[in-house]
Amino acid sequence: MKILANDGISHNGIKLLESHNFSVNTKNIKQENLIEFINNEKIEIILVRSATKIRKDLIDKCPSIKLIGRGGVGMDNIDVDYAKSCGIHVINTPNASSVSVAELVFAHIYSTVRYLYDSNSNMKINGNNNFKKLKKKYSDGSEIRGKTIGIIGIGRIGKEVAKIAIGNGLKVIAFDPFVKSIEVSLDFYDGSNHNFTLNTSKLNYLLENSDIITIHVPNQENSLITIQEIKKMKKNVILINTSRGNAINEKDLIYSLKNNLINKAGIDVFKNEPNPDNNILSSDNISLTPHIGAATIEAQNKIGIELANQIISIFK
Ligand code: NAD
Repeated sequence: MKILANDGISHNGIKLLESHNFSVNTKNIKQENLIEFINNEKIEIILVRSATKIRKDLIDKCPSIKLIGRGGVGMDNIDVDYAKSCGIHVINTPNASSVSVAELVFAHIYSTVRYLYDSNSNMKINGNNNFKKLKKKYSDGSEIRGKTIGIIGIGRIGKEVAKIAIGNGLKVIAFDPFVKSIEVSLDFYDGSNHNFTLNTSKLNYLLENSDIITIHVPNQENSLITIQEIKKMKKNVILINTSRGNAINEKDLIYSLKNNLINKAGIDVFKNEPNPDNNILSSDNISLTPHIGAATIEAQNKIGIELANQIISIFK
């Protein structure tokens, strides 16, 4: 069977698929040329990440498609229900990237509390001429040990964030309307482990008591964090979003950064990807990444293998 992995797939995923006689094309076809390519090449399986969109018109115009695979979690770029109603398999890899996203959360946290997002670029330009001035500028950083982190959405990624947080000596508050409590198991390198039970709290309690707030909810129609929620937070709160751009109202975020309603933000996801609002990109006190939560070698390898195994078990 012919597979088009339009947003790429790891080498080990390709090898596994090829060993079961699938042919894998990793050419990146522009969205506007995709229908023609799929029909010309008689592609039966299309694999995407978040960039390629698989909407109703493509599904209608490409009758050869038997399976749509999303390497990652969120399926907002695919018309899942419509595809399924046409008898097309739709699969994703929900577990593969949780650790990578959780680690990026902490990369943003450390970046913000110690000004790395700013000092990295300023050291390159002025590190020689203005060393003492820059040293002074970045001299009121803070430790995170002993602080409180609020996790909104305690699913797969939220749970991994909780594990790292507990390991780093933070107190964890979680809010999730669909979860009462979770068990978190911390596994150590010597084989020992320690279990924690986390009971979820009310959103207001989390907003009022957290030094750091991180969001891990599915795509939202209405923003979960707007100026109303921000006003309930501590003034020096650090706000992290690696879920979906719309989880935080971006205009309210820009306003809050500008008017010191929050201390800093770490943002990996944007409402208008791949052309984020310039007002966010040029805000002060913000650590930015271009939606790379799942973009590690380990996560991509796990995604490739997870996709390949599902495809093999469906068609072989
Ligand atoms: P998950 O489904 O395992 O967990 C989501 C949790 O959010 C669930 O426990 C659910 O009950 C909870 N939830 C739903 N609505 C809520 C609300 N209104 N308030 C609070 N909690 C709510 O999902 P996950 O695998 O943990 O992924 C979380 C998010 O991360 C998704 O939006 C996903 O698209 C995103 N993600 C981003 C990247 C990246 O590259 N930055 C990579 C992977 C996933």
